[in-house]
Amino acid sequence: SAPTSTAAAPMEEDDNDVKEAEVVAEEGDPREHINLVFIGHVDAGKSTLSGNILYLTDNVDKRTIERYEREAKDRNRESWFLAFIMDTNEEERAKGKTVEVGRAYFDTSLKRYTILDAPGHKNYVPNMIMGASQADVGVLVISARKGEFEAGFDRGGQSREHAMLCKTLGISHLVVVINKMDDPTVEWRKERFDECVTKLRPFLKSCGYIVKKEVKFLPISGLSGANVLNEVDAKDCPWWKESYSKRENNTDKPTLLSLFDSLEISGRERDGPVTIPVLDRYSDRGTIAMGKVESGTVRVGQKVIIMPTRNTYKIEGVWANELPVKCARPGENVLVKIGGAGVEDVQKGYVICDANDPCRAVDKIICTVALVDLPESLPIFSAGTTAIFHCQCIEEECTVMEIFETTNSRGVVTKNAKFAKVGMKVIMKLSLARSIPCETFANAPFLGRFTLRNEGKTIAIGKITKLPPKKV
Ligand code: GDP
Repeated sequence: SAPTSTAAAPMEEDDNDVKEAEVVAEEGDPREHINLVFIGHVDAGKSTLSGNILYLTDNVDKRTIERYEREAKDRNRESWFLAFIMDTNEEERAKGKTVEVGRAYFDTSLKRYTILDAPGHKNYVPNMIMGASQADVGVLVISARKGEFEAGFDRGGQSREHAMLCKTLGISHLVVVINKMDDPTVEWRKERFDECVTKLRPFLKSCGYIVKKEVKFLPISGLSGANVLNEVDAKDCPWWKESYSKRENNTDKPTLLSLFDSLEISGRERDGPVTIPVLDRYSDRGTIAMGKVESGTVRVGQKVIIMPTRNTYKIEGVWANELPVKCARPGENVLVKIGGAGVEDVQKGYVICDANDPCRAVDKIICTVALVDLPESLPIFSAGTTAIFHCQCIEEECTVMEIFETTNSRGVVTKNAKFAKVGMKVIMKLSLARSIPCETFANAPFLGRFTLRNEGKTIAIGKITKLPPKKV
């Protein structure tokens, strides 16, 4: 029989009659939640597109829009008001550049979304990494405008670097929007769209994408909104709809938002092993952990193991969006009451796991990283190099034990390399100061992707490829 909830809301009086009535929903909002990261060269139109999505889905109130319009006009940049919705700090507005990772929420009838707007400027790659490491889907914004498309792919163009980072971070869904199709140099011409796609394909392949399966291309105007929520007017673009339904074997609305709605995020199996990395914990009438359900469905009454301690507990209450629920699915932010646990038994960075299929806890890993930056005091990356290992909200000191292989940007592989330089891909063994809960990236992406930092700089991003065998 189904277990009954014995928990009240964490901060409330323990009143038995209220408890049963408060178990309002089975699962909270039934719509899946997805994180999107917008990437691409500066001025490709990321902020304008993000702003317009919020506007078209009614997530910006009228007064805010009017204020933005007025402000944009005052600065003689009328078309920028959509970008203003995303670029919220003064410095960015004055320069017209996106610096920090912006965040915004919107929803459709099918799904809920968070937009992480990554900066295109060269100096802000670490911010972009932060955004992308939380993302499920990458949206690569490419300008089709004459000259701009070409510049984005030149040496030093950011489209290249960003697409590569996304792949390294494990984002396997990439939506490539060919933007500014309304521009007078483009006028929704099929030839220009095809030219961009043809040039992008081999490049995306070289970043490791299985283009046919993982990448979708879409012509849009982020500025006018054509093909964003509503289809482009057939008068302007008579070829797209047919070409899309043929290519995708899909007769749905060929727009960006319906494409988002159709994406299936892997690793989010409702029936998979319950995995909740702990972000925080409270001790109020028992021990309550806060976190996001990364996989599985957590239920009241369920038995769990907490890693790395391997202690077993029973879930005595679950709250999603602060409402008591019987269970919560992947993507939901939850509070869970851990029966029998003391405060010290549940800590930030610990992982609440399925009792039958817990993650691992180890202090040695084999991994593949991309070296993105080195501080001046660390010109060489080699065995003995130390850094801080960040995986979900764990921070642990680590040391490079052995480099097995490096690959430089031209694809030249060196076995048993003595050192590695910025721009290289490195396969190596790392030793951690203490055992941490983790998994291989292939098994559980959210417990298998990490960054290495040194002196406040992100020096590498990577994924765990091999772990010692499981202890039984
Ligand atoms: P970001 O740096 O990638 O965030 O780019 P912005 O959103 O700030 O846009 C850069 C410039 O391109 C601005 O002048 C925009 O008005 C313009 N722009 C953005 N999207 C479009 C579009 O779909 N069509 C046209 N014609 N211009 C656009």
